[in-house]
Order: sequence, then C-alpha cells, then structure tokens
Amino acid sequence: MTHPASTHPFLDLAPLSAARFAAIEDRVARLLGTGQDVVIMQGEALLPLEGAIRGTAGPGTVALNVITGPYGQTFGDWLRDCGATVIDLAVPFHTAVTADQVREAFAEHPEIDFVSLVHAEAATGNTNPVAEIGEVVRAHGALFYLDAVASIGAEPVLPDAWGVDLCVIGAQKAMGGPAGVSAVSVSERAWARMASNPRAPRRSYLSLLDWKERWVDGGRKVLLHAPAQLEMLALEACVERIEGDGLEAVMGRHRAAALGTRAGAVALCGGLEPYVRDVREAAPVATTLRVPEGVAASEVVARAVAGDPGLPLVAGGGALAKEMIRVNHYGADAGVGVVRGCLAALGTALAEQGLIVDVEGALRAVDAGWH
Ligand SMILES: *Cc1c(COP(=O)(O)O)cnc(C)c1O
Repeated sequence: MTHPASTHPFLDLAPLSAARFAAIEDRVARLLGTGQDVVIMQGEALLPLEGAIRGTAGPGTVALNVITGPYGQTFGDWLRDCGATVIDLAVPFHTAVTADQVREAFAEHPEIDFVSLVHAEAATGNTNPVAEIGEVVRAHGALFYLDAVASIGAEPVLPDAWGVDLCVIGAQKAMGGPAGVSAVSVSERAWARMASNPRAPRRSYLSLLDWKERWVDGGRKVLLHAPAQLEMLALEACVERIEGDGLEAVMGRHRAAALGTRAGAVALCGGLEPYVRDVREAAPVATTLRVPEGVAASEVVARAVAGDPGLPLVAGGGALAKEMIRVNHYGADAGVGVVRGCLAALGTALAEQGLIVDVEGALRAVDAGWH
C-alpha cells in the first residue's frame, strides 16, 4: 500500500461532520438575523434561487416578478417554466423599484400570491428598498422571494424583519467568500407552500423539500450526501472573518467604496456619470458608470485593466457593454486602495481616448468620500 508523500492543505481532510455542517448553518442564520430554517445548498447561488422557485411555484401561482436587472429576467423564465402566471414589473436599470409600484401591481392584479425581487443588482448597480416593499407584500399576503446574493455583507439583509419567505444568499460577493456554496432562509409559510406543491422537486438536487424532510426535520443528524467540504470550510472561514471584523464595519467598507467611486468618477471626467442616478438607489456592492458619448465602455475597460489585470473593472453585460463600466468593489476589493487604483486606471484609459481627465482631483474626491 502506498501513502501520499505529504499532506496537502486542500486534500487529505477529515470528512466534514453533520454537526459542523449544522453549526455553519447556524452561523449563517445569525448573520441574517433570522429564526427561520437556513438551508445551505451545495452549489452556486443559482441552485437555491432556482430550487426555491421550482419548489413554490406551479400552475396555480400568480407571480409578480420585479425586473431591475438581468436576474429578474431569469426568475421570470423559471416561473413561466413552472406554469405560473407571471406579471413582470420592469423598471429601467438606472433606477430602483418603489413600494408604490408594487402596491399598484397588487391593486391591478389582486390574485398575485408570489413576489420575486432582487435586492441589490451587481450587474446594474442598483438596490431596491426591500423593507418598504416587504411591508406591502406582507399586507397583501403574497409569498416573498428575495435574491440577496449581491447585498449580503454590503448592506443590511433582514429576512425576518422584512417578511421575506425565501431569502437566498451567496458568499462570493460582499462576504468575500467562496462561490460554490449558498444558503436560503425558508419561512414556515414557504415550507407549507412547497409541501402542498405537487410539482416541487423531490429526490432532486434542486429540492429544498429533501433538506426539510431528511435534514431539518430529523434534527440535522445525517447529511443527504457528502458535503462540498472545501466550500463549507471556506464559508465558515468567511463568516468567521465577518464576525471578527464586525458586520457593520464590513458593510461600512462597501458603502465607502461605493460613495468614493461615485465621487471619484464625477471628478475624473466630464461625461463619466454614475449609471444609477439617485445615490439612495445605488448599491453598496458595486458601482456602475455611464461612459462619455463617443467611447465604448468595453474598450475603456480593456485598456484600464491592461496595466493591472487585478483591478475589479468590467464592462456591462450584453447590450450594456457599450455604455456601462462596472466597478466591482466588493469583498477584499472594498478598500480605498482598490478604488483609487480603478479610478487612476480609468483616467489613463479615458485620456488615451482623447478625453480630458483629472486623476488627482478624482483621487482627492475618493479620499474625501471615504470619511
Ligand atoms: C452575483 C449574483 C448572483 C450569482 O450569480 P453569478 O453570476 O453566478 O455570480 C445572483 N444574483 C445576483 C443579484 C447577483 O449579483
């Protein structure tokens, strides 16, 4: 029999116990301030996002699907695929949805019994007023599904206080953690909706009910399958780090990065503008910028990162690639050094395009915005 010559930090680990798995779930529940069941799922956040919709929606469902970015489109497609009647409420990507718009949708379609909403949109840079919307949804009695992947760690996410029935998070954005595990908090109402849904996935990787019946209800003693051990350990480490730094401090870093980027961009170049016009609707997780007339965002980004490929700069997705730059100042990148680096690099790239830039002024504005 041969043995490995040496142990490896990622390999040769003892199996992750059910108790450890449950303790990590409890820690995530504390981060969310929730008394609901928290189920960790072994995949990127799209797994619980899809599992929660397929678990609760069916031909009898009338869903209000709020679209403030690309994910809302995807949720609508899943809902329709489940046989639900979908009422799309789309707002321009440079703004947020309001509680009044949701109230009006209920007045127009009183039969709505499900609401899907993205909290913060990393792809478009906006954030929606979930607390206010939650009050309206609760008053109407609909089940409330929230994608908080891009908000958790960057701004408050409070499923219990806001009446969220299914709150999905992932660790890969502002939590500064791994992308391969994610979590969802599930209210009693949401469990009941799934239990009575004949189409809810069962004996399936998409199934939340499997976790309810075979994990939660059994007192979390036996795992359904071998857990994604490295990701679980990384998730534990990332929550531990947030607890150590303090959630308020982590959120403060993201807020400062967003305000600094915004102020710096305005000072950098006439015509470079925050994509989200109202600062209250701008997400702390990432800042989107509209490029000046006559330049292509994807080209500016390509030139900006040519000198420093580590900078978290990307062009907008799809049709937005021409007009939008995203500064993904989240996780470890939510710091003054990274934001300064991004603005300096954008300054160089915009100057190469023949635009007049004030890099010193931009960096001063970043520093001023930081305090
Ligand atoms: C990042 C993100 C996700 C997760 O999707 P990936 O593209 O795989 O990272 C889901 N929802 C929102 C709103 C996100 O920003």
